[in-house]
Amino acid sequence: MKIENLKTFEIMVPYKMGNHDGIDETKPKRKHNIPVPYHRLWDEKVKAKVGGLTICKVAQGQWVSPSGKTFRELMIPVRISCSEEQILEIIKMTAEHYEQEAIHCMCVSENTMIYHRNAAEEKTDVSKVYNSDFGDSKVCDCGHTYYRHFDSYNEMENVGCKYCECASFAIKP
Ligand SMILES: [Zn+2]
Ligand SMILES: [Zn+2]
Repeated sequence: MKIENLKTFEIMVPYKMGNHDGIDETKPKRKHNIPVPYHRLWDEKVKAKVGGLTICKVAQGQWVSPSGKTFRELMIPVRISCSEEQILEIIKMTAEHYEQEAIHCMCVSENTMIYHRNAAEEKTDVSKVYNSDFGDSKVCDCGHTYYRHFDSYNEMENVGCKYCECASFAIKP
């Protein structure tokens, strides 16, 4: 059975981004909603690195500055299961992609399990893949042993029973 152990992080992706409108650099930065295709580029970068992500609903963050002013900002929490090394790369990439001074990210799970069904089946289905630990002398429904259902001259390929028409090993109940 193949189970991966990873951590899960929640990273706050900005909803709005600053922008110089026009050529005048002296004008204050104006914030605008980030277009979906721009978010998609970020999604692709994350997927290329760690294979997947969970985008949550937009949340409103509020915080009080030292001068007492309350700031409100929309954020998109995104959950990513990966290693600590990978999340550090993602945080850096996020700051650059969205032109942010700071990125808020937290570890929401120290122990995230990912179960790979196909990989597990391949490994455990002894009738399809020869497994020397299974027991060569165990008897199939057809009356012949497990060992005889694989080709010892060809890397134990699954060839069906050598003595009869049985196509696949099934242990005799
Ligand atoms: Zn058989
Ligand atoms: Zn047989």
